[in-house]
Amino acid sequence: MPALPPEGTPGSFWEDRGDRHHAGLDLYAPAGARVVSIEDGKVLSTGIFTSPDQVPYWNVTYQVIIAHDSGIFCRYAELGDLAVGAGAGVDGGKVIGHVGEVLNLSLIAAETPAYIRDLKRQGRGSMLHFEVFTSAPGPDPNYLGGNWFSSRKPAHLADPARVLTDAV
Ligand SMILES: [Zn+2]
Repeated sequence: MPALPPEGTPGSFWEDRGDRHHAGLDLYAPAGARVVSIEDGKVLSTGIFTSPDQVPYWNVTYQVIIAHDSGIFCRYAELGDLAVGAGAGVDGGKVIGHVGEVLNLSLIAAETPAYIRDLKRQGRGSMLHFEVFTSAPGPDPNYLGGNWFSSRKPAHLADPARVLTDAV
């Protein structure tokens, strides 16, 4: 597994991005890298996570939300494809999809947010975006593409670092 971004650094949980906060943790990996379920569970839903219809410099990527047997809910996002469907049971370690190319680096310009321009400079257009919840995440008007457009952290959003450290 790639190294976790240290607290307060780009890609870390609840990173302050000016008008938004990062809802999860980014694990930078090449597009096509396998993404596995961290624990046993059941796929709650799958679907499109980002699309150029929402933000021009986004590619189409997908998400998988799994209700894990330990009681947590995880969103595995910015995937290039899906290897499981809603309702499927998954064992820990099962491949659920592959890392996608979320950013269209050629469309990132001066007016895009600074943290996106930093990613372009570093050539980081692909990653797993990973979120952990203590109850099932639903649609939220303040949420888009892995960020919360609010400085108030939702009560059911948890720090993924601890979960991932326990899983490896
Ligand atoms: Zn992210």
